[in-house]
Order: sequence, then structure tokens, then C-alpha cells
Amino acid sequence: MRAAVFTSSSEPLAIREIERPRPRPGEVGLQVARVGICGSDLHVKEGGNPAFAGVVFGHEFAGVISELGKGVQDWQPGDRVVSLPIHHCGQCEACLQDKIGLCEQIVFTGYSHDHSGGYAEYTAVPTHSLHRVPDNVSFDKAALVEPLSVSRRAVSRTPIGKDSVVLVIGTGPIGAGVVQFAKVAGARTVIVSEMSAERRELAKAIGADATIDPRAGDLAEQIVAIAGRRPDVIFECVGVPGLIQQAIEVAAYEATIMVVGVCFDKDHLYPNMAVKRELTIGFSNCYTHEDFAAVLDAMESGALDPSAMHTSTIGLDEVPSVFEELMTTKSGCKTLIDPSGGAL
Ligand SMILES: [Zn+2]
Ligand SMILES: [Zn+2]
Repeated sequence: MRAAVFTSSSEPLAIREIERPRPRPGEVGLQVARVGICGSDLHVKEGGNPAFAGVVFGHEFAGVISELGKGVQDWQPGDRVVSLPIHHCGQCEACLQDKIGLCEQIVFTGYSHDHSGGYAEYTAVPTHSLHRVPDNVSFDKAALVEPLSVSRRAVSRTPIGKDSVVLVIGTGPIGAGVVQFAKVAGARTVIVSEMSAERRELAKAIGADATIDPRAGDLAEQIVAIAGRRPDVIFECVGVPGLIQQAIEVAAYEATIMVVGVCFDKDHLYPNMAVKRELTIGFSNCYTHEDFAAVLDAMESGALDPSAMHTSTIGLDEVPSVFEELMTTKSGCKTLIDPSGGAL
């Protein structure tokens, strides 16, 4: 089968003919219909860890079951599915509480030689990770279930109610999902703070009530001018130093700050400001089966329509060049790959 393979940080991904992953016992083979290019994939390529040489990226995929491994019941070839791209130990404290996204030994499909990802015609996934895609949900939308599950989990960990004023800092794919789930949760006003004009447009298209350029003036003043008061729930969806402090400075008293952006640098903040307002600061990571199911339900019922997040669809042959482009220009929201060549 054909796949886009990581070789090193200095070379584009390579389109190669490689052996098709066959389902092991308890797994199914999947023909990949759509797979999203994720910022984490760009990040891993940039890092260039030689241990990843030969790995096929891709953890945000939807597809059709093509083959059953030994012992598989309840699934049939032709079933349309998405899968949690995580392999957990089943024994750590998080796993024992079904919080498999927090497993201490978590391994992701698409970042592992054992679990080849979706930048390929086929992949193989365990049945315990599968979710059925409802008939009225397209593969374009189904490929967004994984990143939207990250957003859904973050929103579910906050006390958003119908009077809530919500601030979302950053609208990459995760922030865009947070905007949508904050609206689904009934927030009165959802405001996006975003430096990119293109992403402010996206935020409006997916349902933000207002957008702010944080460089255009004092952030708290801009928010109060729109919503009449400071935000009581704030999501940090960027992951660069200084933004948790920014959230503390604009928060209403007793507000909740939920950090979803992944920052690999050291950050510093002034706890005193958070203490004075009795803020609650939390962090959200990954997702569980419940989040996947909730996202699919919201898509099926029409409560959630993430179509505006889908920037473009490309074929496998275009992956190496488009991937290089995305590493330098941070434009668009979600590029999907169709490895089936238009067949699915
Ligand atoms: Zn991702
Ligand atoms: Zn575990």
C-alpha cells in the first residue's frame, strides 16, 4: 500500500510503497477515508527524533473496516468508523478509572512503529477503540472527531452555564472546537481573542459571538465593551508562555481558567492575582470514549457542525509538499488527506 513516511526533519515526508498493516487478534483493518494533518505531526517532524524514522503519522482518521482480525465479532467489513488513536496499559491508576487518555504509558497511533497511522491507504486498530460513524455524518466531519474530542473534554471540565461569558484565547483547531462546545453548552457570550485575522474570521464562521485582536487595546476593556463584564470561563488554547497570566489578569472573580494549549517552555505567573480573585485554574488533556461518543452524537443531531474548520482536502501525493508548507505558514484550520483517491 502507499503511505507518507517520516524520514528526518530535513527531508519532506516520502511517499512509499510499504507493507499493509494486517489486523492482529482483536483488531480490524481499516481503509482510511480521511485523515487530518495535526499540529503535533508538524511538531514531531520539526523535532526530527531519529526514533521516529519510518513512522507513518496520522491519528485523526475516519475510515471503513476492510478486514477482521481473529476473534472479532460485532463489526463487519464496510462499517464506517472512527477510533481513539490511543493504546493504554489498562493497569495504571488512570486506566483503572477509565481515564485512558491520561494513561502513564500511553502510546499514540501515528507516533509508533507498532501502530502505524492514517497517512496511508490502510491502518489497523483495536476494536475496543472503535466508534461507529452515524449515516448522516460525512467522513470529512468524522475526521474532525479526534481534535473536537480534546475540545469537548476541556469544555466539560468547566462550569459553563447559560449566563456565562466565555473567553477563548487562540482559535487553532482546538480553540475552534472549544468555541463550538461552549455554544453547545449554552454560554451567553463566547468571545475569541486571536492575533490572526484569518482565524478571527474562522471563529465567527463557527459561531463565536465576537472576536478581539489582543493587540488592539487592553484585553479586559475590550471584553467588557462587548459582554458588559469580565469573562467567568477562560480557555487558553495556544500554549505559549505568558498566556495563563494574561487569562488571570482579565478573569472575573471566581472565574475558571482551563488550559488546553500545550506549552513546552517554562512559564511564570503571579499567583497573588489569582488568589485575590479566587480563580480556579485547571488543565485538560486528551479525551475518553465518552468524549468521542458525545462529539459523534452532537454531529448526528446537528447540534455541532464543524464544516467551517475544514480548510481543504488533498491526495496522498500532495502530502509531502503541503506538509512542508504547513510547517512554515500557519494558515487555514484543518487540512484533510484522502488516501482513498476519491473512492471514499
Ligand atoms: Zn491531533
Ligand atoms: Zn494506563
